[in-house]
Amino acid sequence: MNHETAIANAKEIADHVLAPAARQNDKEARFSSEAIKALGPAGLLGTMLPANVGGSALGPRTFAAVVSALAEADASVAMVYLMHMCAAATIAAARNGAAVAPTLEEIAAGRHLSTLAFSETGSRSHFWAPLSRAQRNGAGVHVSAKKSFVTSAGHANSYVVSALAPEGAGPTDSTLYLIQASARGLSVAGLWDGLGLRANASAPMILDACEVGTESQLTDDGAGFQAMLQVVLPLFNLGSAAVALGICRAAVAGTATHLKGARFEHLGQSLGESLPTLRAQLATMQIDTDGLAARIDDLIDHLEHPRDSTMLRVLESKASAGEVAIAVTSAAMRACGGAAFAKHMTIERLFRDAHAGAVMAPTGDVLREFIGKAVLGLPLF
Ligand SMILES: Cc1cc2nc3c(=O)[nH]c(=O)nc-3n(C[C@H](O)[C@H](O)[C@H](O)COP(=O)(O)OP(=O)(O)OC[C@H]3O[C@@H](n4cnc5c(N)ncnc54)[C@H](O)[C@@H]3O)c2cc1C
Repeated sequence: MNHETAIANAKEIADHVLAPAARQNDKEARFSSEAIKALGPAGLLGTMLPANVGGSALGPRTFAAVVSALAEADASVAMVYLMHMCAAATIAAARNGAAVAPTLEEIAAGRHLSTLAFSETGSRSHFWAPLSRAQRNGAGVHVSAKKSFVTSAGHANSYVVSALAPEGAGPTDSTLYLIQASARGLSVAGLWDGLGLRANASAPMILDACEVGTESQLTDDGAGFQAMLQVVLPLFNLGSAAVALGICRAAVAGTATHLKGARFEHLGQSLGESLPTLRAQLATMQIDTDGLAARIDDLIDHLEHPRDSTMLRVLESKASAGEVAIAVTSAAMRACGGAAFAKHMTIERLFRDAHAGAVMAPTGDVLREFIGKAVLGLPLF
């Protein structure tokens, strides 16, 4: 599969599987198993995995384009896909000696969905500082943890889980483990009934003395934090920005359709023909959306050709995208008036979904804190 095929496959699935079901899945907070059944055989679960496990070895450019295409139709599915891709990359970057090839092959074959279980009830959005601590158990460990939000909870085939290393001294001395869904002691601990991204099953999970063998330890003891920063963060922030872009594009398209189709019959004009204020709001939405697309292109270029400014761009992209998505969808809500408010169209779902980006860790506030420190030359942690 190449870049173009991946995008074509994503658009096909977005149009024929995601779009027709998005409204109902959102209403019922129902996870779309159909989406995963379509993404797998289309080769999209293994897009970035190396060829030796059956992946397509494609890069961040393809990843971002696929995520935004999915998000245009259903941001919940795009977030499920994004979390899977972050988990797959972390598994693929496992230390020597980890026996992850079978999982990677299953992912590449489209039969395995994974996700990240980092955030904990105790340390909340500070996902880099888990309170749970792995306990030595023979050659392996057992892990007990209260994970506060896990996208695809109960639907994923495996979970990339963080916990403090058994002998870790500091709050970021974590280790990452791969835990299969069938592991004893792993359970979903509640329902997901969010304001937005309602169809992505981001429920809490409990790990109760889950046994993990050394073959499933993804990082060296205490090296989980580095993997979070080097492997997960760039991909997650790029993907989050791409989700925001898909939401913005859908909001612009939905608003344009409404302004062309809805009419003041007494004036003989569509809303768009009649009101310059609405045209100006649509224009601002378009400018912001294209600005976000340009920022994402810039980030991709930085990831393809890393340089001194790359980490700053990684931090900026998610912080900015979250705000842009909220601004664009808020403008759409206003431009489309009571029709949007009364849920006659998809705009209000986009508006709700857009708000998740800013509160998902690293949150927009935390990113600003990091960016400010980086600009001042202060240590980030
Ligand atoms: C839809 C959804 C899906 C998710 N999926 C996953 C997942 O798959 N895996 C996973 O591990 N987690 C996931 N999360 C959890 C997410 O990443 C955050 O951990 C969670 O949203 C934080 O919520 P909280 O109430 O604990 O935030 P809190 O930590 O209580 O934050 C409250 C407020 O304080 C601000 N704040 C916190 N620290 C600082 C600081 N240092 N400086 C300035 N402001 C600060 C925050 O920005 C926020 O506005 C998901 C969350 C959502 C909403």
